[in-house]
Amino acid sequence: CMASGAQKIYDEMSLLCKDLEGVKIEMQKDLPHLGVVKTGCQGLCELGPLMRIEPYNYQYVKVQPEDCREIVEKTIMAGLPIERLFYSHGENIYEHPQDIPFLKLQTRIVLENCGNIDAESIDEYIAIGGFSALSKALFEMTPETVIDEVDKSGLRGRGGAGFPAGKKWKQVAGQPEKTRYVVCNGDEGDPGAFMDGSVMEGDPYKMIEGMTIAAYAVGAQEGYIYVRAEYPLSVARLKKAMRQAEEYGLLGDHILGTDFSFHLHINRGAGAFVCGEGSALTASIEGNRGMPRVKPPRTVEKGLWEKPTVLNNVETYANVPKIILEGADWFRTIGTEKSPGTKTFSLTGSIETTGLIEVPMGTTLRHIIYDIGGGLKSGAAFKGVQIGGPSGGCLTEEHLDQPLDFDAVKKFDAIMGSGGLVVMDENTCMVEVARFFMSFTQRESCGKCVPCREGTKRMLEILERIVEGKGELKDLDQLEELAEMVRSMALCGLGKSAPLPVISTLKRFREEYEEHIINKK
Ligand code: SF4
Repeated sequence: CMASGAQKIYDEMSLLCKDLEGVKIEMQKDLPHLGVVKTGCQGLCELGPLMRIEPYNYQYVKVQPEDCREIVEKTIMAGLPIERLFYSHGENIYEHPQDIPFLKLQTRIVLENCGNIDAESIDEYIAIGGFSALSKALFEMTPETVIDEVDKSGLRGRGGAGFPAGKKWKQVAGQPEKTRYVVCNGDEGDPGAFMDGSVMEGDPYKMIEGMTIAAYAVGAQEGYIYVRAEYPLSVARLKKAMRQAEEYGLLGDHILGTDFSFHLHINRGAGAFVCGEGSALTASIEGNRGMPRVKPPRTVEKGLWEKPTVLNNVETYANVPKIILEGADWFRTIGTEKSPGTKTFSLTGSIETTGLIEVPMGTTLRHIIYDIGGGLKSGAAFKGVQIGGPSGGCLTEEHLDQPLDFDAVKKFDAIMGSGGLVVMDENTCMVEVARFFMSFTQRESCGKCVPCREGTKRMLEILERIVEGKGELKDLDQLEELAEMVRSMALCGLGKSAPLPVISTLKRFREEYEEHIINKK
């Protein structure tokens, strides 16, 4: 919305609403508050700037500055809808957000407040039950029972690998070293992914609450949020949220009057993709060059400043408050047995409705693409979907009806990653897609280990040759050999997963590679 001009709309609406102050208006409903607030992402990214009018619950899309006066005069003053600003699809016109299929078919836990509250007001978060999970943890639970609850819930880290969060917390809590840290990975460097950024912008309080609960559980007194510098709005809102939480005694010394203290800091990453890897991320916070190191020791034993560290991503922490409030059994009613809960995805590419979604684990790609996303743009035929960004793989027609969870995706030579979904239609060249992702990972390789540093470079050279029509059939064997070598011998996750787009496209679209080579194009 900001990219499509939301700030102008906000300024214009603020001016117009200011003009109304002190004016007696014949309202259709009692309005408790007349004004404009900035929410986080309301989900329908392609239709921005979006505006929700409360208490009428009208969802306006593609609002322009010149619409503002009419909105004030008609909708705010008289309660009348403006039909042309509603989202329409075919013959259907949708007045309210909950009726729009894209939103109606989602299960929102992590994103439940995004777009629905003022993202800069801790009062609004508290008014809808915010921080009651922290209060419950501090006054009704011991650190051990908090960890048990998270463990029983089966919550798996949403950053990519899907490691069980409760198990990780238990390992940190069990370390003899008493100085421990809680770190949040908000680096989100995958092209096409914007879930974590949207959570930090739309509901920064939820993840701060989740981190604070984690700190209480593992006995940490300091925490760091590592946010990429390209997310200035996330940084600004997190800072504001942290300041407000400190003022309310929800962060800092003696939280809620207890003996528990937790101080949170923000670190801005300089945009290196490899800093999403745990040991590179902690090295970067320490002020060192962001490079992965050999493991063991693992982060839970020697993480930040060589102390035991819980490292989870934004979405993982944002799941925690609800688990504490509603319980592990409730959480397990959503999703699949081995991957309970929901997953957020950023749905982009050649799809009718792009945006931010959250669905139960185990939802099929067909449901996401056709029911939620409205199918492919201009009715084009589906070809594939890149899941997990440059570290992920390409899923095709044969996977459309497979339930998506951490384990299922791995079986298809892909990874869930943090949740980027780029939909591709029949006109997409899959060799070009593989080349694009390989050029990204090759550029982002930190260069520490030979298989990744040299292997990705050689793979990119071959892919470029093929795309330029200069390839030979024997290149494909070499590409496969190199891919396998990099995958099995690279030091960190970036290198290990870098060949996945090549491996999966070679497996499923080999004829496209051959066509480039044989037809020299
Ligand atoms: Fe660096 Fe790549 Fe080796 Fe990871 S795999 S340490 S990114 S060179």
